[in-house]
Amino acid sequence: MIYLDHHATTPVDARVLEAMLPFFSEKFGNAASRQHAFGWAASDAVERARKQVAVLIGAGSKDVIFTSGATEANNLAIKGAAKARQGASTSAGTAARNHLVTVTTEHQAVLDPMLRLAREGWDVTVLPVNAAGLLDLAALEGAITARTALVSVMAANNEIGVVQPIKDAAALAHAKGAWFHTDAVQVAGKLPFDVEALDVDFASLTAHKMYGPKGVGALYVRRKGRAVAAVAEIDGGGHERGLRSGTLNVPGIVGFGRAAAIARDELPAEAARARALRQRLLDGLAAKTEGMTVNGSLDARLPGNLNVSFAGIDGEALLVSLDDIAVSSGAACTAAEPSHVLMALGLSKDRALASLRFGIGRTTTADEIDYAAAKVSDVVARLRQMSPLQSA
Ligand SMILES: *Cc1c(COP(=O)(O)O)cnc(C)c1O
Repeated sequence: MIYLDHHATTPVDARVLEAMLPFFSEKFGNAASRQHAFGWAASDAVERARKQVAVLIGAGSKDVIFTSGATEANNLAIKGAAKARQGASTSAGTAARNHLVTVTTEHQAVLDPMLRLAREGWDVTVLPVNAAGLLDLAALEGAITARTALVSVMAANNEIGVVQPIKDAAALAHAKGAWFHTDAVQVAGKLPFDVEALDVDFASLTAHKMYGPKGVGALYVRRKGRAVAAVAEIDGGGHERGLRSGTLNVPGIVGFGRAAAIARDELPAEAARARALRQRLLDGLAAKTEGMTVNGSLDARLPGNLNVSFAGIDGEALLVSLDDIAVSSGAACTAAEPSHVLMALGLSKDRALASLRFGIGRTTTADEIDYAAAKVSDVVARLRQMSPLQSA
């Protein structure tokens, strides 16, 4: 099996696993135990990891709040910031900031918290993207008002790899006093991402998309320059600056820290390598396959992402035939329904379903790319011969 689905998850790097192992049984202390050496060792390890994650994104250590992953980080940022602003306007007797802005191609872990707030009475604007998958900044500017509490725009898309103009979007939010959140899961460790240079207020991360373990992530919460706040979703012992109570997942956090440090060290070389492999894959496919289009901008894109669709092909048959290559199709997790991201680009339902997402990663080799390009081309050609959709 060839793994080309690195946007879904990544293997734990051997160096990350090695860093984690002592924290399961030898150094098992609770990082909140202040009275003895077991606790201090755990706490020191957590603080080292916090620094490593902070350095990857250009943040101060204290700005990083550990969570169970990016789904939790997105929920904390969106619901937490909304509630903080609601509370602040109520106590100050000022006009309510009861409006939120996001984009239609966001991950479900952003869209669903937004939907819940909409059901609770918040006014939520979901902006479209253009055919290349990019947000229109003029439309964003038009959507933000003096009532906007928070704008959330993902840094890079998990399906089509498209990288949004985060710096400009954040500036537009701030111009009207709104706070800015970005789901930075896919960009972290893949392209330079700096919370100061981009001036974002909240950023969500997860370890398992960058060669760390599953079940650990972080929310960056700005403390410098702009007084942003979030109301906690989980109350308890007041861990993580009161923003996320619960005993810390010390081995997971240590692994996340090591993964962040490795990603930072290897970023320039890895990005160049992934980009070259992506080009090799695209060239290999294009040489043998007609009626193929790339979904989303090729320029503003993660180096390791390729998303293509094939005319006249049944999406399900395509995926079934790729029995030794792990890729994602243009179907949402809930089968048979086309991806909301591809539909937002204006693709037809058939075309969206006949799409493949390739996620190239640290372990991907040129041989694997060549094999995948040949296999996909062969399968597409064979399905075209059989397919009643031939002319579609
Ligand atoms: C994977 C992913 C998430 C969810 O992260 P978890 O840590 O698995 O909860 C959120 N946003 C994006 C863009 C993702 O790719």
